[in-house]
Amino acid sequence: MTPTPEEALEQAALAGIHRLAIPTPFAVGRVNCYLIEDEPLTLVDTGPNSGKSLDDLSARLGERGHSIDDLELIVVTHQHLDHLGLVEILVEHSGAEVAALGVAAQRLANFDADAESEDAFAVEVMLRNGIPEEVTTALRAVSRSFRSWGSHVSVTRPLADGEALELGARRLQALHRPGHSPSDTLFWDEERKILIAGDHLLSHISSNPLISRPLDGSPGRTRSLIDYIESMQRTREMPAEIVLSGHGEAITDHVALIDARLAAIERRKEKIQRLIAERPRSGYEIAQAIWGNVAVTQAFLTLSEVIGNADLLVAEGRVREADDGVVVRYEATA
Ligand SMILES: [Zn+2]
Repeated sequence: MTPTPEEALEQAALAGIHRLAIPTPFAVGRVNCYLIEDEPLTLVDTGPNSGKSLDDLSARLGERGHSIDDLELIVVTHQHLDHLGLVEILVEHSGAEVAALGVAAQRLANFDADAESEDAFAVEVMLRNGIPEEVTTALRAVSRSFRSWGSHVSVTRPLADGEALELGARRLQALHRPGHSPSDTLFWDEERKILIAGDHLLSHISSNPLISRPLDGSPGRTRSLIDYIESMQRTREMPAEIVLSGHGEAITDHVALIDARLAAIERRKEKIQRLIAERPRSGYEIAQAIWGNVAVTQAFLTLSEVIGNADLLVAEGRVREADDGVVVRYEATA
């Protein structure tokens, strides 16, 4: 029988993996960090760089008889600041090693410069897709104000895709599954059928396939939704019994959840195809037609959704990009 999410967390706890739900100042609410009581004492994700999060993490560790100084290994699931903001502070206290995807290490080390470049990239993408300049200026200011919740991260234990972290009582295989972010990394305990998934899968909301710069520094942008679908299809094949996510409840039927996510993507793609078939539209016009004012307040997020779906339609040969030198519009091929 499929366990309930609560029973799944209890089973994980019996295997020495404890969820620590740490507050964040963001709309997403708490972020799930996971304490693994093993050798070395391991923490997967840390919460954002704030005193409140640090105090809370310290209290949660205390409940289990540990302190921040005891941490020996910190594992990072992806590059977003709600997951890694406290890493350097924890390392200062504990001297812990830091494990993360090796191809992301350079970007993690240069957090400030990288965030600046990422913001400049986002502005360029927004302007090219018809978002008014004043909206991009406002969003850039918001993004700057968020930056203090993050931190640079010095990765001491870079991991290749497929490489295993050997702990005393378990093996965690690192699996690069980009989509939500380019650096999304899953940690798979094959023996116990437990998958630590970061924001790759969330039970209560769909993960946003945010457009980003490629991890390896190559020019252009990621095809985030195409990557994400491929990543989900690979996860779907895994015999996981418990999926521990970066936010919200544990997932006990990842196949059904992935099927629901894929079906929702399919529906949205067809809706966007119909909008484009009516007349050529920019990404911003499509986002406004679907989300109204949210396409302004959450312009980059909604634009990422639209571009991701348009990438799928372009790959299927149903839509093409028409570039007038200023703005890209999507038009139907038929
Ligand atoms: Zn997150």
